[in-house]
Amino acid sequence: MTTVDLPPASVWPPDLSAYCFEVPHSDRSLLFESGKGIRLTDAAGRSFLDAMSGVFVTCFGYDCEPIMQAVTDQLRTLPFNPPLHGTNRAALELARGLVELAPPGITAAKLVNGGSESVEAAVRLARLYHRAHGNPDRVKVLSYYHGYHGATFGSLSLTGRPDVARFGPGLPGVVHVWPPDCLETFWDVSPERSGALAAAMIERTIEAEGPESVAALVMEPVIHLRGMAIPPADYLARVREVCDRHGVLLVFDEIVTGFGRTGQPFAAQTFGVTPDILCVGKGISGGFAPLAAVLMADRLAEVLREAGGPPSFAPSHTYAANPMSAAAGLAAVTLFRQDGYLDRIRALAGHLEPRLRGVVGGRGTVRALGLLYGVKLAGGDGVGDQVAAACQRRGLILRGQDDWVVLAPAFVTTTGEADQILALLGEALDEVCGDGR
Ligand code: PMP
Repeated sequence: MTTVDLPPASVWPPDLSAYCFEVPHSDRSLLFESGKGIRLTDAAGRSFLDAMSGVFVTCFGYDCEPIMQAVTDQLRTLPFNPPLHGTNRAALELARGLVELAPPGITAAKLVNGGSESVEAAVRLARLYHRAHGNPDRVKVLSYYHGYHGATFGSLSLTGRPDVARFGPGLPGVVHVWPPDCLETFWDVSPERSGALAAAMIERTIEAEGPESVAALVMEPVIHLRGMAIPPADYLARVREVCDRHGVLLVFDEIVTGFGRTGQPFAAQTFGVTPDILCVGKGISGGFAPLAAVLMADRLAEVLREAGGPPSFAPSHTYAANPMSAAAGLAAVTLFRQDGYLDRIRALAGHLEPRLRGVVGGRGTVRALGLLYGVKLAGGDGVGDQVAAACQRRGLILRGQDDWVVLAPAFVTTTGEADQILALLGEALDEVCGDGR
């Protein structure tokens, strides 16, 4: 395997870089030029294997012909429609396609432009539901410490990470609760006990806040920024019971775990727990247009129907359900369903998981759920970023932070590419963590 150097400064056009705050975040930031399959090429002509699907997005690769064709056709027929006066066929068919993928009981979808918007829509929907049922005081929203839900102010307020505090006070009425993984890490609670304890703590929190004031609990079934923290087996079912006991709506933020990642269409099916509202984004357009959705149980859809349909949800977003995004999403959902992607995902996961465990060895703990992987590394905070940097020098893109790295390979990754990913990761681990196998 060849090791590539950090990008030379000359790759960045100095006359353009000064205008844009997207990048560079750091001296490792890349200027991408093109993508094919799961490979990216940068402005210096170097090739990178993308083991992150962009960021859980490009599940079908960077050059998926059926999606590109659908987007091109849509562009040539109807690139936009007046959203206050109607919608388009692709949006209607996409909403039906998403509902058909979702667990029974989920019956409608609202399309939006990104994950943060879908989380915000979930909160609005939850409050609307309670108001329609004579409980206008149910406005508080519970979410996890150390969860992530987006960058708009409402979703940022639900994000319980210490690093968002610098933006000042968030949405009033947000109450943070501890997930099982944090109980294990910060208080040494055993994995056998953490699920029951975390669920009990959520219940005590609802009681302490006053159930009549709580609208919803918003959570990631698997917490990405804790290094893919997978909950104990019975935990989500316990949480569902707690919510039901207190009339609190359960919202799954499946923006990372949704659309096949876990080996089922949604983590809801993987864990056998159906939420009232399900947020989905990232991969549902394959990365060919900005798109997300909030899927809802029938009792929530009923509120919108009775209140006169979608106008009761207004104001909506100018680009919500726009034809370009809808066409990309419809093509991605159609491809996913028609081409047996769940079987492909499970087969690739079956190849990757044991080999990843072999490569990591004693240097960390592997968390695996479908094509979603986290490696908690021995060696403390900062080691995740070092491993990610060592991977990038070798032409491999994954995410690393604190004491973890995560991988989310595209569904179209071949076993040969999977083996290359593992070989490069192994070299990076050798460099940073030593040969601790
Ligand atoms: N929720 C989760 C779990 C996410 O990972 C993200 C994006 N990283 C979001 C919400 C926000 O999505 P977006 O960046 O599309 O607004």
